[in-house]
Amino acid sequence: MAVPAYKRILLKLSGEALMGSDAYGINRDTLAGIVAEIKSVADLGVEIGVVIGGGNIFRGLAGSATGMDRATADYMGMLATVMNAMALSDALRQAGLNGRVQSALNIEQVVEPYIRGKAIRYLEEGKIVVFAAGTGNPFFTTDTAAALRGAEIGAEIVIKATKVDGVYTADPKKDPSASATTASASTRRSGRTCR
Ligand code: UDP
Repeated sequence: MAVPAYKRILLKLSGEALMGSDAYGINRDTLAGIVAEIKSVADLGVEIGVVIGGGNIFRGLAGSATGMDRATADYMGMLATVMNAMALSDALRQAGLNGRVQSALNIEQVVEPYIRGKAIRYLEEGKIVVFAAGTGNPFFTTDTAAALRGAEIGAEIVIKATKVDGVYTADPKKDPSASATTASASTRRSGRTCR
C-alpha cells in the first residue's frame, strides 16, 4: 500500500477546471472525474481541504469591466464559488465521500459558515472540507483563499489544479511567445503524491 507523502493537503480547483469542454458552468462528467481523483487520494488516508474558484460562472474583474461596481461584482464572484462548492459536495456524496461546505460569507440556510476549528475537526474525521466564497473579501481571488486556508488548517502543501501547468510570463493561450517560469505542475506532481 502506497504511503502518502502528505497527511493534510489543500487542493485549489479553479472554476474553469469544472467546465470541461463546455463554454460555461459545470460539466457533470468533468466534475465526476475530479471527484474520482480526489477519492483516490482520500482513500490513501490523506486529509483534504478544497478551495474552489468561480471563474466558470462569474469573475469580478469581468463584471467591473462592463461597468459594474467592482466590490459588488466580486461578491457575485464569491457567490459563484458557493455554487461550485455545492456541486462539488454533491458529487463527493454521490461518490460515497463525506464532504462539508464552509463558506466565508454567511448564507447559513444553504451552507455552514467557515469555522476554523470545526473545519479541522472535519478533516480529522476524514471528511473533505470544501471552502467556499474565497476569503469573503472583495478585491481578492480564490488563490489567496487557498494560501490562507492552507495555512489556517496546517496543510503541508497547497496544490493548484488549473488550466495551465505552471507559471508563465504571459497567458500561454493568448501569447505564443509565453514561456514557463516554473516546472510544469504535472512534473511537480509526479512522484510527490506517494513515497
Ligand atoms: N473573489 C473575491 N474574493 C475572494 C475570492 C474570490 O472577490 O476572496 C471573487 C472575484 O471576483 C473572483 C471570483 O470571486 O474573480 C471568482 O474567483 P476566482 O477568479 O479566484 O476563481 P477561479 O479563477 O479560481 O475560477
